[in-house]
Amino acid sequence: MKRTQLFVKTRKDAPSDEVSKNAQLLIRAGYVHKVMAGVYAYTPLGIRVLEKIKQVVREEMEAIGSTELIMTSLQRPDIWQATDRWSDDSVDVWFKTRLKDDSELGLAWSHEEAIMDLMKDHLTSYKDLPVSVFQFQTKMRNELRSKSGIMRGREFVMKDQYSLHASQEDMDSYYDQVIEAYNRIFKRLGIGDSTFVTFASGGSFTKFSHEFQTICDAGEDVLYVSKDRSVAVNEEVLDDAVNEIGIDKKDLEKVVTAEVGNIFKFGTEKSEKMGIYYTDAEGQRQPMYLASYGVGITRVMGVLAEKLSDDKGLVWHASTAPYHVYLATIGDVADAAEQFVRTLEAAGIEVLHDDRDTRPGDKFADADLMGIPCRIVLSTRTLEKQEAEVKLRTEDSPELVPIDQVVERVQELLQL
Ligand code: ATP
Ligand code: MG
Repeated sequence: MKRTQLFVKTRKDAPSDEVSKNAQLLIRAGYVHKVMAGVYAYTPLGIRVLEKIKQVVREEMEAIGSTELIMTSLQRPDIWQATDRWSDDSVDVWFKTRLKDDSELGLAWSHEEAIMDLMKDHLTSYKDLPVSVFQFQTKMRNELRSKSGIMRGREFVMKDQYSLHASQEDMDSYYDQVIEAYNRIFKRLGIGDSTFVTFASGGSFTKFSHEFQTICDAGEDVLYVSKDRSVAVNEEVLDDAVNEIGIDKKDLEKVVTAEVGNIFKFGTEKSEKMGIYYTDAEGQRQPMYLASYGVGITRVMGVLAEKLSDDKGLVWHASTAPYHVYLATIGDVADAAEQFVRTLEAAGIEVLHDDRDTRPGDKFADADLMGIPCRIVLSTRTLEKQEAEVKLRTEDSPELVPIDQVVERVQELLQL
């Protein structure tokens, strides 16, 4: 992609009403546009990061036999009335709207009831179970507070996943597989070391749910973590969990975190309340077990922006960066640059080529602010020697690499 074809402009200052670091940085670097508090649009740069995060999640979901679908943002009240979650007293984040005939609709804040309604047409026999599905969908939530930038949106992208089972044992064992898949996801996103599987408040079916919490100053949660980091408990359930696990509160360290994922067992509650049953091998009507698993895709992007940044701007890992390489060309090198980009792209290296007629200093500042992991400079001077200047975002000084070895060197540096 050429900078001259990318409309995005970087800026020195963030909007004065934006208080969160992640949104300030992402706006300045041209990844998001603030529409209003808690509502952000994603530019071509922003969407590439979201797509990278989604792809990691998608691969790990498919690896545990989950299949992708997409449900709707407009929802019928009756499915939520059945489980007593339509009223604003029971769910305080609803956005609701009306059809022309004045009947009410909900704007989806979650899809547990929606997936049950969809599955009722497909799961009728024990032979149809288990099933696991997932989607990436924009959720609408009328959040009271929205001061955390893209980490708490009123409109945000979630990966939500649902599994349906004939027995509790089957649900339990799949749930454990999801925990492992989530651990792999956060590791691949580069936050594995600072992300904990956490005991959190449960629901009607289980005493505890599990949250995935990442250490992050801008987070809204407080965790208590054991020294060996094997146990983490959300402050909300500290006393209960400590008793249950039999661990001493004094051995736990307090950390501030952001919830990047949450997984939940509903058991047969939805099935029973919504009257959705399957027939077992003996011909008996049975309720299905439901578990639900979320990852905050846009929140993860915000957490990465918060955690991986310095005074010059963002610092993406290669796994989530919109492009691997920021190519800054200096002088009249257009033809050589075109050939160079083709070679890199053919090797799977994604390049943002700053072909603008502007000062090198501006190009370097943008490369840093945008946080592209590797910067390459191609100039009349480096070309004379058939070389390019290669520098990691995290390093101070560049190295000179023979042009025909750049692909290999970038792959090595970025571990592609
Ligand atoms: P929170 O406790 O942060 O309000 P939640 O418990 O309501 O979140 P879930 O309904 O379990 O969240 O949603 C699954 C995941 O979606 C969360 O773990 C979080 O990562 C993300 N998420 C929830 N609310 C938001 C939001 N308003 N903006 C961005 N991401 C969100
Ligand atoms: Mg939660």
